[in-house]
Amino acid sequence: MSLLVQKFGGTSVGSVERIEAVADKVISYKDAGHDMVVVVSAMSGETNRLVDLAKQVDSQAGGRELDVLLTTGEQVTIALLAMALEKRGYAARSYTGGQAKITTDSAHNKARIKSIDHVRITDDLQDGRIVVVAGFQGVDEQDNITTLGRGGSDTTGVALAAALRADECQIFTDVDGVYTTDPRVEPEARRLDVITFEEMLEMASLGSKVLQIRAVEFAQKYKVPLRVLSSFEEGDGTLITSEYGADKSMEQALISGIAFNRDEAQLTINGVSDTPGVAYQILGPISDANIEVDMILQNVSADGTTDFTFTVHRNDFDTALKSLEKTAAQLNARELSGNNKIVKISIVGVGMRSHAGIASRMFEVLANEGINILMISTSEIKVSVVVDEKYLELGVRALHEGFDLKTES
Ligand code: ASP
Ligand code: MG
Repeated sequence: MSLLVQKFGGTSVGSVERIEAVADKVISYKDAGHDMVVVVSAMSGETNRLVDLAKQVDSQAGGRELDVLLTTGEQVTIALLAMALEKRGYAARSYTGGQAKITTDSAHNKARIKSIDHVRITDDLQDGRIVVVAGFQGVDEQDNITTLGRGGSDTTGVALAAALRADECQIFTDVDGVYTTDPRVEPEARRLDVITFEEMLEMASLGSKVLQIRAVEFAQKYKVPLRVLSSFEEGDGTLITSEYGADKSMEQALISGIAFNRDEAQLTINGVSDTPGVAYQILGPISDANIEVDMILQNVSADGTTDFTFTVHRNDFDTALKSLEKTAAQLNARELSGNNKIVKISIVGVGMRSHAGIASRMFEVLANEGINILMISTSEIKVSVVVDEKYLELGVRALHEGFDLKTES
């Protein structure tokens, strides 16, 4: 017997029929002998609808009152799910975040969980009840209602699993696991049985949006085994864990997946003097404008001048370019250019630590397709390249093939 925390997202509870189906699924685990804690999101579209309502009243709506409003979405689904369970003859109890004693800081709309007092939940479980908890919400120390940021129900699930020392936190969603790459780009993408937290975080930060990043970080920190599975299809999904098991590591592929990001833009400033403080003069105003810089590249200078290239989110391109125009004038730069038609493709895998030549294999594959690489960056378990956006699909597919990700490893 084990304790499971299961989280069902908006589409999984998007209608009364689906809530009934969730009840059946939860019961099948309860019948198999598990203690069950279930976290639910609001019905799909509901949180957006509530945000819309708020904006109709006040286009600047936010803070405390927005949280009071948004948390109603989850209060609907916990009650309906508990009813569906009770109707089937299973004792169940629903709790809002505050009732479940999920205490957060006071940062409305993006609060962080500080503690969970789970005595009441544990008592319920001991009495054989199924516990249903509203995702995405808590209360601060003054009992003000807070929310954890969009997609925050994943974090609620993981935090409860950590507090209760659950055997697994299972995230049920509309995809059946984590894939080697986006199946919309590469139809032969394969579902991974296992992936490490580290890899998952790299994939997520690069735009694979299966789970809220904060939830994965939380699970990694508290060593909560996390599983992503489909609400609608049978299957084991993908287990996200600290390391590959002993048996699995033998066959561990060199890389686990290919991530990409379409929202990139590049800025280049040429011919500035190569003296201390130049990087700061260029990037300082960018960071003052709250623009996040991703890759940065500085050339080795031959004639006492140097070139800088860096990438930002596409939405920040215009602002960054304007800021850079000023800087370029001040620094007497030879040239300023920008390109917002670029993408970033990355290969990710802990296998890189123990194998040389992965990066050059990547460059070889791209070269064979005639894809020009504009920028390169590497980290311990990732190699990223920036290429023209027209090469995104071709590049991802070629790498998927080149690293043999289709076949079961
Ligand atoms: N209902 C919230 C949202 O849509 C939280 C969640 O679904 O995780 O962002
Ligand atoms: Mg969601």
